[in-house]
Amino acid sequence: MLSPQELETLKTSAMGAGATHVARIRADEIVVRDDLARLCREGCGNHGQSASCPPHVAGPGGFRKMLEQFRQAFVVRMEVPVESLYSIASQDLFRLLHEVVAAIEKSAKDLGYTRAQAFAGGPCKQLFCREQPDCARIAGGACRHPDIARPSMSGFGIDVAKLSQKAGWGDAPAQGPDGMASLYGLVLIG
Ligand code: SF4
Repeated sequence: MLSPQELETLKTSAMGAGATHVARIRADEIVVRDDLARLCREGCGNHGQSASCPPHVAGPGGFRKMLEQFRQAFVVRMEVPVESLYSIASQDLFRLLHEVVAAIEKSAKDLGYTRAQAFAGGPCKQLFCREQPDCARIAGGACRHPDIARPSMSGFGIDVAKLSQKAGWGDAPAQGPDGMASLYGLVLIG
């Protein structure tokens, strides 16, 4: 388990990178739903476009197996103005979310939690490789952005509303009464 000092180190890393809230939960509190993962196939134009999105990821079944190897996780939240999600700035915000969870993952690995694995929101093909003809990993090469691009939680069926509840933040409304919305990420620690 993370010591209080390690916990502080990861929180500092998260807040320094741009998170507004972080919370530690038990890995077995993460809820995975097959129907949520199916939405990627049925409603996302980025389906199949990157190695980090379905059908190229292990999906809910693979994620449940992965979870068996972890005892704790960090839930990450970035509060942003709702209107920013409907502007050109939204791409920057989702890229920042990827950077935040990747920074926490790196900090955890630096502390010795070498299996730490981060997940973000938003398809990395659109966010990082939009101008490229393909995903370099699908084409057989290495990721062009290994330090920041992380798989999206959607493809694994991770229930974000439940993550928010377990983190102690209540439901995850699309828009709060204060005109703010939240983006979420997750880092499995060890
Ligand atoms: S190469 Fe681009 S599209 Fe493929 S996994 Fe990396 S960031 Fe995502």
